[in-house]
Amino acid sequence: MAAKGSDGAPWGLEVRRVVNGRGLVALRPFRAGARVMPIIGRVVTARTVWRWWSSSPRRAANCFRLAGDRYLDPSGQLGAFANHGCRPNVRVVARGDRLAFEAMRAIRAGDEVLHDYATLLGADDVWTMQCRCGWGGCRGRIERFDRLPMRVLRDYQAIGAIPRYVLRTTAESIPSRR
Ligand SMILES: [Zn+2]
Repeated sequence: MAAKGSDGAPWGLEVRRVVNGRGLVALRPFRAGARVMPIIGRVVTARTVWRWWSSSPRRAANCFRLAGDRYLDPSGQLGAFANHGCRPNVRVVARGDRLAFEAMRAIRAGDEVLHDYATLLGADDVWTMQCRCGWGGCRGRIERFDRLPMRVLRDYQAIGAIPRYVLRTTAESIPSRR
C-alpha cells in the first residue's frame, strides 16, 4: 500500500497494514548499524505542535523532536508511518536539523521498522500514550525517556540511542560512560 508522497522504494521500505494500523515495513534486509532512511519533514516550532494537539492530535503525535524549541513534522512522508515499539530495531540519529533512522539490530525483509518514541521525549515532555506494540516485554506506556526502566536506559545510552538534546532536558544527570 503506497500512501501519497510516501514512496519508500528508494529506501527499501513500504507502508503496509501492520498490527496497529499502518506501518513501515522493510522490503530488504538491513545490517545492524546501517542507515535505514532519512526522516524527511518540515521544521516547526513547539508552539505549532502544541496547537495541533487540539486540532490534529495524530499529526502532533507523529512529530519528531529536534533540538531546542523545534520539531520535525513528517506529514505526507514515510516518517509519519514509523510506529513505536518497546523492542525497537532502529534508533533516531540526529545531526543538526536532520534526523535519520539507523538499524540497532539486523532487520529482515518483512520486519516492521520500529523506534522507541521515548528516546525523543524529554524530561519536559508531558505526552504519554498507552502502548500496544505487542512485544512480550512491552512497557505498557510510552512516556519521557527518564522514566524508562534503568536497564533499558543504560542500553540505549550505551549505543547513543537518545540524542544529546533529549538527555539535556533533565536536570538530574544520568551516568554516561563517555
Ligand atoms: Zn510496547
